[in-house]
Amino acid sequence: MTTATATTATSDVTDLTDLDADIRRDPAAHRVLTGDRPTGPLHLGHYFGSLRNRVHLQRLGVEMFLVIPDYQVITDRDIADHLAEHTENLVVDYLATGIDADRATIFTHSSVPALNQLLLPFLSLVSVAELHRNPTVKDEIAHSSQATVNGLMLTYPVHQAADILFCKADLVPVGKDQLPHLEVARTVARRFNERYPHPDGTTVFPRPRALLSSAPLLLGTDGGKMSKSRNNSVPLAADEDTTARLIKGAKTDTDRRISYDPAARPEVSNLLLLTALCQDRAPEEVAEEIGDGGAAALKRTATEAVNEHLRPIRARRAELAADRGHIRQVLRAGAERANATADATLTEVRAVMGSL
Ligand code: ATP
Ligand code: MG
Repeated sequence: MTTATATTATSDVTDLTDLDADIRRDPAAHRVLTGDRPTGPLHLGHYFGSLRNRVHLQRLGVEMFLVIPDYQVITDRDIADHLAEHTENLVVDYLATGIDADRATIFTHSSVPALNQLLLPFLSLVSVAELHRNPTVKDEIAHSSQATVNGLMLTYPVHQAADILFCKADLVPVGKDQLPHLEVARTVARRFNERYPHPDGTTVFPRPRALLSSAPLLLGTDGGKMSKSRNNSVPLAADEDTTARLIKGAKTDTDRRISYDPAARPEVSNLLLLTALCQDRAPEEVAEEIGDGGAAALKRTATEAVNEHLRPIRARRAELAADRGHIRQVLRAGAERANATADATLTEVRAVMGSL
């Protein structure tokens, strides 16, 4: 599969180009935690931004935790009516794209009490000013359907730190929008370790790293970040005609000569990248092929590429979606495993804090 090339390999953000050899040598030295909010159907941004990397890591033998943060959904909207449906559909998407439920721990926030308890000590390690500065929180507030900013929304990144740290994950495959949250998780881990070391000097938490893909910020049909809640996404579960209609309506520009230039032509470049990812080749090559064909040809090419790439996934999806009993069983088994992990971490946390 294609791996990222455009990201810099600093200590807090990484990509598979840097990590692949290391993981192949010792997959057991790593643990992945990531997840998706149960706010709607997964889309191409999730798939190319994070899901494909998850499947790749799992196939290499890395242990995987997938949280469906149902408590985080109540930060910025009321969708209780659809919560169960969205949650189950996320699991269907995971399994359809290749996550192995026997090896992955897939669970909801609300089913793991000890994870949520970590939020309390973690909140004491973060200042209110730091929470107000978080750009992702600012952005989510801007797109929120709620009239006022509630406390849960502001503390969302700290809750997310608990998600990552309860299972001591060191790798978090996410999109670019999540980098400020990851920074909070790293800060919480560092401050906790400094303040509460084990008596022998060892520390409780690893410092998690964000793992970016080659599509860290896929754009939606309106030119903004593709998001479940912004009515600009191409869902994985959409049928081929709907996919064609959505891509046909995507924003582009009027220059007939198609070129890959993400800074100057973000929308055109986004469709080129999307096509390239589906076909495992370079976006420049796709641009060259389309040449003077204009946006219409580009959209036709992108539609065919997406539909062809997703065809087997969508077929598997339809089969999986028919067996809700199995999906619920996956969530029950995941909750059991996540609870065992969270209980162990909370016991360790309470011990170093002197609570036992
Ligand atoms: P919502 O609108 O409810 O916030 P969302 O589409 O932003 O939904 P999330 O559940 O917030 O999806 O994000 C789940 C994961 O998918 C995160 O790791 C996020 O970074 C990644 N992701 C979401 N959208 C994109 C995108 N357009 N490109 C790349 N990665 C993305
Ligand atoms: Mg989001």
